[in-house]
Amino acid sequence: MIDGTPSPLRWVRDCLDLLLHTLWPVACPVCGRLGQVLCGECLSSLLTRQIPRCLSCGGPAPCIDHPRSAPILPGAIYEGKVREIIHRLKYGQTRALGPILGRGLAGLRPRPSLEVLIPVPLHLKSPRGYNQAEAIALGLGRAWGIPVRSLARWSSDVPARTRLSRAERRELRTEDFVVASDVRGLRVGLVDDVCTTGTTLSRLASACTAAGARVEAAFVLAHVPG
Ligand SMILES: [Zn+2]
Ligand SMILES: [Zn+2]
Repeated sequence: MIDGTPSPLRWVRDCLDLLLHTLWPVACPVCGRLGQVLCGECLSSLLTRQIPRCLSCGGPAPCIDHPRSAPILPGAIYEGKVREIIHRLKYGQTRALGPILGRGLAGLRPRPSLEVLIPVPLHLKSPRGYNQAEAIALGLGRAWGIPVRSLARWSSDVPARTRLSRAERRELRTEDFVVASDVRGLRVGLVDDVCTTGTTLSRLASACTAAGARVEAAFVLAHVPG
């Protein structure tokens, strides 16, 4: 990082970063600052409010076809550094990124009036034992003071999402999810890392609604413009 004349304060900060890096060898994947999983400056430069998408069809919101549908609220476009960072998170290279990104996502909007955040579950057949959506939800939940609960799971006969084509994802059915009866009567926010067609979130929202919840919004780190 180059930002003009070094100040004593900056020198102290750099020394502390170096010490932290020695104890915990990480560096910001964007600017390379030592001792930081993702520094605050880079976090805020990566995330911005995106145009909401319709939770029913994945199109731009407000939607003409689904004027009462809840919105999908992304914090970035899935490209460049954001894509790279989500990949690191997803494949477990830097798991600590999840809550940090969730906190950044929370900072984009005022605290919603929700009673629970539900992450999109990790597929049963996924080779990863780590749910990145849950990690992001934990950061959101901490920042907003909303509990995170994994109340949804995939049914056992659906192929893992990464193996599905865009068209196949649109064909996922509501019954692909099993939602715990605890959601009855709750105002729910769904959380995922990436939204491509919006189908997964739409189906999960339908499953939550069928279980008696009121789905108010879905928060995603990044979306793939359609
Ligand atoms: Zn940085
Ligand atoms: Zn729509």
